[in-house]
Amino acid sequence: MTIFHKIINREIPADIVYEDDLCLAFRDINAQAPTHVLIIPKVQIDSLDGLNSDHKHLMGHLLLKVPEIAKSLGLTDGYRITVNCGEDGGQSVDHLHIHLLGGRKMNWPPG
Ligand code: AMP
Repeated sequence: MTIFHKIINREIPADIVYEDDLCLAFRDINAQAPTHVLIIPKVQIDSLDGLNSDHKHLMGHLLLKVPEIAKSLGLTDGYRITVNCGEDGGQSVDHLHIHLLGGRKMNWPPG
């Protein structure tokens, strides 16, 4: 069980900005931009590598929520999403999550 599971179960607090039956979105505790939100599925999936064809609807749902949540947070000038996967990808929590970053101009390439 990860810390995100505890957030889903309300065992630890989080600044939740969106929730439905499939996903939860909350502010990252260590924000890397003026707006930094994590969008996670409620079911446990370790990472992108843990996906299979049963997750098509769920992953489509998560991605479709991105512009909706971005708009609700006032990100009218654009934003970036990132999904870190595995050690080389910089993933530190083994529960699949989409980083939604905005409120400043993003750099490219990422570090
Ligand atoms: P990643 O490094 O891609 O696995 O991203 C994990 C993210 O979770 C990091 O940006 C952390 O700052 C964030 N994080 C860890 N614990 C919490 C927490 N309790 N509440 C909100 N964000 C968290």
